[in-house]
Amino acid sequence: MTVAVVLFTLDLRLHDHPPLRAALKAADEVVPLFVLDPGVHAAGFDAPNRRAFLADCLNDLDASLRRRGGRLVVRTGPVVREVRAVAAECGAAEVHIAAGVTAYAHHREERLRTRLGDDGVALHAHAAVTTVVAPGTVTPSGSGHFTVFSPYFRRWSRQSPRQPLAAPRAVRVPDGVRSDPPPGRAEVPDTSPGLPAGGETAGRDRFSKWSRGGLSGYEDRHDDLAGDATSRLSPYLHFGALSPVELVHRARGLGGPGAEAFVRQLCWRDFHHQVLAARPEASVRDYRTRHDRWRDEEDAAEDIAAWREGRTGYPVVDAAMRQLRQEGWMHNRARLLAASFLTKTLYVDWRIGARHFLDLLVDGDIVNNQLNWQWIAGTGTDTRPHRVLNPVIQGKRFDPDGTYVHRWVPELAGVDGTRVHEPWRLPADRRDALDYPAPLIDLTDGLARFRHARGRD
Ligand code: FAD
Repeated sequence: MTVAVVLFTLDLRLHDHPPLRAALKAADEVVPLFVLDPGVHAAGFDAPNRRAFLADCLNDLDASLRRRGGRLVVRTGPVVREVRAVAAECGAAEVHIAAGVTAYAHHREERLRTRLGDDGVALHAHAAVTTVVAPGTVTPSGSGHFTVFSPYFRRWSRQSPRQPLAAPRAVRVPDGVRSDPPPGRAEVPDTSPGLPAGGETAGRDRFSKWSRGGLSGYEDRHDDLAGDATSRLSPYLHFGALSPVELVHRARGLGGPGAEAFVRQLCWRDFHHQVLAARPEASVRDYRTRHDRWRDEEDAAEDIAAWREGRTGYPVVDAAMRQLRQEGWMHNRARLLAASFLTKTLYVDWRIGARHFLDLLVDGDIVNNQLNWQWIAGTGTDTRPHRVLNPVIQGKRFDPDGTYVHRWVPELAGVDGTRVHEPWRLPADRRDALDYPAPLIDLTDGLARFRHARGRD
């Protein structure tokens, strides 16, 4: 009997899974393995919302494998040590893994390749498992990476993504491989009350339902804050419970402007992946420095706390920040507004905001979070780095009747329509009766400070 190991990472699914398909082809028996690495915990990346969603993904994967005669093997410990131990226990000749782009993923892959090599076990890293096209495939002139989205999108759109793979019918796992029980969602404390159910089954179900009702209107409605008309597939994509390749094929198969607009958003994921693959340090350092002199964190502590807690006095920003805490998720337009307010109005370092998002977002992702933060802070790939999103103008435009604000800021329930975006303009008696803070900063002051501090460029 030949045996291969598949190390699952951010690809927690059975459909369209190239490493699993390759392992099943190469060996008689396969060990589907997931390692709970305490290093991820030590680095602070297993925030409660993502840990709970991960638990759902692992239990769902285990159940799907059991329906096919297999099971998920879960181990706890340093990832390289555990993979080597499992490979040795079952006499595996090869290990399959999805290639990743973060510095952590590169380091893991390198160490696995070396240490497994010492044991005579081959490591196969498969490209285009977590993205539609592999980073480094679409390049400006044969090398390097794209620094601007639009030309990348044009070239990316001309690629033919590989055909999605069906889920295997059967998976034979060797007897006697020890497994820890998959972690349970109920064991995770401090999660957001509105967290969705994780897992491939829930993700596929969500896409099927949304593609029937929401996809056709996506182009027109994706910025409607109250309408909540986007797919909400980001956590499933983050954990790889859904394959982006399969989503592109299915959306294009349905066709129409909504599907094209949705595929364009999926391209943003690939764009950021190819940027970070080329510049892994951009997860912590400015991609393009503009010599910003961010406010000292201690001096800005009260403003940062008000932003985190959703009491800046700018209703749409406060609604966004409260949605984040309640659901572990935020609408894209809300993320843009909240991030612009922190970096360009309060002039707080983007890393502080990115860290807070990572602490709460169920889709929180080093690639997409850090590079979107850099985009809005003007240190990233935005071709208009000085753009500032005014929360009053944007609120009136994307939440014209105030429904989004009312949903998350009940203190403003009695203030109708666009007036809800400027409660300070209400007659003094009504304003004073509201249990809602005055604006933290005058928008023109914030802008002046931003222009002054950025100075050059
Ligand atoms: P839809 O509008 O339905 O889009 C479909 C999919 O396309 C999304 O699920 C997502 O995978 C991808 N996508 C859409 N917009 C973007 C984008 N701008 N960049 C990259 N991928 C995109 N997305 C994350 O997945 N993880 C993050 O940690 C994250 N942090 C962000 C931080 C900031 C400051 C900003 C402005 C955006 C961030 N985004 C992040 C991107 C985007 O806001 C979310 O992907 C989107 O809101 C998820 O909702 P949805 O699934 O309904 O998206």
